[in-house]
Amino acid sequence: MAILLPPLPYETDELEPFMSSDTLDLHHGKHHQAYVDKVNALTLGADLADADLETILKVAKTKGDETLLNQAGQVWNHNFFWPCLTPGGGGSPDGELGQMLTRDFGGLKGFQAAFKEEAETHFGSGWAWLVLQGDKLVVTSLHDGETPVGKAGTTPLLTCDVWEHAYYLDYQNKRPEFVDAFLEHLVNWSFAAENLARAQGQRAA
Ligand code: FE
Repeated sequence: MAILLPPLPYETDELEPFMSSDTLDLHHGKHHQAYVDKVNALTLGADLADADLETILKVAKTKGDETLLNQAGQVWNHNFFWPCLTPGGGGSPDGELGQMLTRDFGGLKGFQAAFKEEAETHFGSGWAWLVLQGDKLVVTSLHDGETPVGKAGTTPLLTCDVWEHAYYLDYQNKRPEFVDAFLEHLVNWSFAAENLARAQGQRAA
């Protein structure tokens, strides 16, 4: 069973005006689909043909297969990115995630400043992340198709795609405006809170 392109969790026009349906058609329908197709082509007829994405990532890493690792990483990152966005997003998280943002960044504003800095200054293509590292929230970025999956003690909570294909149609070269829109109007804090709760549940188990 080949891996599949997951459907978007909203209609392509529901994130407008902050992310256009043209961007989603292209980004999800073409770019993300192309990564899925490439992973399936690379694993066709091989031991990994029936494997799930996490297994493919793990084996590609062990074998040092950079091509498969990058393509599969991009599939994973995009699968994770779409639910990081939601119509009517933004605002601030409450509950434990809100308390941890206050503890580790001094509050929502401090987190936004750290995330903006990371996303805007990341050189070239990549992803900005909020991750749980040990018991602490950390903002970081990774290059190209690199993914935090499988990094010991690290659980991804939230990400923003800062490849040009994520924002060029809507914001041209103005990545900072896209990152502002992500933080103020698109970010899905409920999804990040679910990821935090799941990580804590797994550690407690
Ligand atoms: Fe992308």
